[in-house]
Amino acid sequence: MAYKAVIGLEFHCEMKSHTKVFSNAINGYSKVSNEYVSPVDMAFPGTLPVVNKTCIRKAIEMAYILNCKIPEYMEFDRKNYFYPDLPKGYQITQFHNPVGVNGKIDIDVNGKTKTVLIHDIHLEEDAASLDHYYDTSTIDYNRAGVPLLELVTEPCFNSADEALAFLEHIKSIYEYTDISECDSKKGQIRADVNVSIMDENDTEFGTKVEVKNVNSFSSIRSTIEYEIQRQSELKASGRYDEVVQETRRWDDESSTTKHMRSKADAIDYKYFTEPNLPRYKITKELIEDIKKDIPMLAYERKEKYIKEYNLSEYDAGVLVKNKKVSDYFEECLNLGADPKSACNWITTRVLAEVNRSEEITIDDLFIRPNMIAELIKLINDKKISNNQGKEVFIKMLEEHLTPSEIVKKYNMEVLEDDNLLESLVNEVISENEKAIEDYHNGRTNMLDYLVGQVMKKSKGKANPVEAKNKMIEKIK
Ligand code: ADP
Ligand code: MG
Repeated sequence: MAYKAVIGLEFHCEMKSHTKVFSNAINGYSKVSNEYVSPVDMAFPGTLPVVNKTCIRKAIEMAYILNCKIPEYMEFDRKNYFYPDLPKGYQITQFHNPVGVNGKIDIDVNGKTKTVLIHDIHLEEDAASLDHYYDTSTIDYNRAGVPLLELVTEPCFNSADEALAFLEHIKSIYEYTDISECDSKKGQIRADVNVSIMDENDTEFGTKVEVKNVNSFSSIRSTIEYEIQRQSELKASGRYDEVVQETRRWDDESSTTKHMRSKADAIDYKYFTEPNLPRYKITKELIEDIKKDIPMLAYERKEKYIKEYNLSEYDAGVLVKNKKVSDYFEECLNLGADPKSACNWITTRVLAEVNRSEEITIDDLFIRPNMIAELIKLINDKKISNNQGKEVFIKMLEEHLTPSEIVKKYNMEVLEDDNLLESLVNEVISENEKAIEDYHNGRTNMLDYLVGQVMKKSKGKANPVEAKNKMIEKIK
């Protein structure tokens, strides 16, 4: 029997910034432990936090994009608990007055629009990380104080598809606004996944289970699907009382969730306002100033590509899926390429190259937008044919030369000399009397043969269309 699933997400994402959220240590990813650490991050006595203005701006920007109510003041709270990765004994977060509350945003789920309700979004600091060895554990403070944005949704999703579509949408916004790369390989994302089930006609939600710290989109999907199935099986077999309010974790090895702690063990965090950070007025001017910085987001660019450039919905979608690809496309246009040609080269050849390896992005490709623009110009100016263009593209990758350099090196330029073309056509006519007779007797396919001969004599450099026209003109 199928039940209705209810899902709510708490999505944590590490933000991009030069320095950490409350100290001047670098906010960076390093394989060397304790490289980016300041005394503030290690809670040395006498140190004080100073809030990073860039992080405040980006948090407000996101609250605005999510249509949240933004408070009058930016203020922080202490969430008190002990753990070795938390040297202060508390995390600075926002509890009483988060930077955004009661938001909503429309997303696309398999072609249908869904409105997602945002409970709140808040700015906080990450904890240090622990590494466990056979008989010791070590603490790495590189992550301590890295800015985190936590986005909490209402329990408004009814399937893994909806939840994942939302996360993809948020990831795209974070990328376009430069708030975060959302790179799960660098541990930049974590979600707490809340799942419950209920009968279709129930008016009250069922008992929710929280799965903590799931750290990739694919694991989040598996977590949701697994929990719906686990809870449904218990309910169907009359054992719904075994679904209890608890915190579980996703176990990659067994592809199941496992019990961590029950609600009875819930910690009382004794929140109170962080006294070392004066509250910061969020003025109307500040919000206006931040609004000006909001770039065109993926769905807006997509609309523009369809309306202004006449691209198909599908192609526009492929181009905006990744901001770097969309930027690359736009740079081609800025350099004079026409949208249709640029789109064709990028969505086929360029992305095929990029997708060859997980390790590279479009930015790592030797072929830059100026080269695509140059290649398109060579073809549009009829200097080379379309087919030659494809050859040039491959040679560019192999030899790391620009399109003009390749064309020059391989002597690829289309025959521009009209007299020369004419003399080649004449030569072919005089050498193929029989073929021409056949042509006049109705074997029209002889024309292709004759043009082929011209192409051969020109070593592929004649423009096939012009050669054909000239041939027709001469033998008609
Ligand atoms: P808690 O008191 O455990 O912190 P909250 O009500 O604050 O729970 O919600 C935390 C998260 O759990 C939110 O993302 C919310 O959407 C989600 N959530 C709340 N109730 C349910 C439910 N019945 N089923 C699924 N998710 C839920
Ligand atoms: Mg939190």
